[in-house]
Amino acid sequence: MILSGGTEEQKRTWLPKLARTEVLPTAAFTEPNSGSDLASVQTRAVKVDGGWRIYGQKTWMTHGARADVMTLLARTDPNQPGHRGLSMFLAPKTRGTEDNPFPDEGITGGEIRVLGYRGMREYDVAFDGFFVPDEALLGGVPGQGFRQLMATMEVARIQTAARGVGVAQAAFDEALRYARTRVQFGKPIIAFPRIRAKLARAAVMVQAARQLTYYAARRKETGERCDLEAGMAKLQATRAAWEVADAAVQIHGGIGYAEETPISRILLDARVLSIFEGTNEIQAQIIARRLLE
Ligand SMILES: Cc1cc2nc3c(=O)[nH]c(=O)nc-3n(C[C@H](O)[C@H](O)[C@H](O)COP(=O)(O)OP(=O)(O)OC[C@H]3O[C@@H](n4cnc5c(N)ncnc54)[C@H](O)[C@@H]3O)c2cc1C
Repeated sequence: MILSGGTEEQKRTWLPKLARTEVLPTAAFTEPNSGSDLASVQTRAVKVDGGWRIYGQKTWMTHGARADVMTLLARTDPNQPGHRGLSMFLAPKTRGTEDNPFPDEGITGGEIRVLGYRGMREYDVAFDGFFVPDEALLGGVPGQGFRQLMATMEVARIQTAARGVGVAQAAFDEALRYARTRVQFGKPIIAFPRIRAKLARAAVMVQAARQLTYYAARRKETGERCDLEAGMAKLQATRAAWEVADAAVQIHGGIGYAEETPISRILLDARVLSIFEGTNEIQAQIIARRLLE
């Protein structure tokens, strides 16, 4: 987002630090009443001397507490209820701790307990006059926030598709390993046709998801429009992750349901992929819209 929508100074300030992982970013777009419909975001940014004060509520901020900077979508023009009234801020914040997750004035929050994907931590956050300096306005011009966000969607969806491929592959590897080693009726269970069929179907799903994801990524890299392909890849690969993980749990039998087994974690990690970075229903809508063009 900074690369495509930021000023030269914003690129100089943030990109090297992000690339060196000196700063951790978090995305503050979703609100309790604005998820898929981000154009309806209600959080306000009110102009004050030297910057803006933020009022409102965000949710599902990944790494919210320990992040150093927020890409924060807020309404700078209350007279524009749709996407034209929205701006994006690169809002610096103080990194929190376990005891004090949000040390800055004007920002409070708490963790959302979730089913899986525990490498990330999710937060509900309330803003009450949180200060953001003038230079934080992405691109330096208000009213561009929604457009700036949409410009990043193809990449976001391709990388989520790639995560789906990784999760699907991990599930497949676990299933194959287990099917080879688990013995019942005097044979490794991979000898049974129903188990082999599940593995064969899973292998096809993983490979199809991988190739579609590469295809979308190649188009992106050559600068071609790829919202259709990115949507297809996201839809297919995240579906593959869930279906392959489900088959892999089945191949494990009872032990697949035990927390101690990696496949139970993989199943829960797979579930969320079709929800974030644009739900799969929204991807289907994008695909259908392009087909009708
Ligand atoms: C683990 C996790 C991490 C996340 N991280 C972040 C983050 O870092 N930053 C951030 O801003 N957000 C984040 N999100 C939020 C995520 O982007 C939203 O959950 C997602 O956009 C869906 O919004 P919603 O949950 O409000 O669901 P809703 O938009 O309310 O959707 C509910 C259901 O209705 C369907 N639906 C909605 N509109 C349509 C339509 N037009 N056509 C057909 N079906 C429709 C949806 O597909 C879904 O099935 C995260 C979410 C999760 C679960």
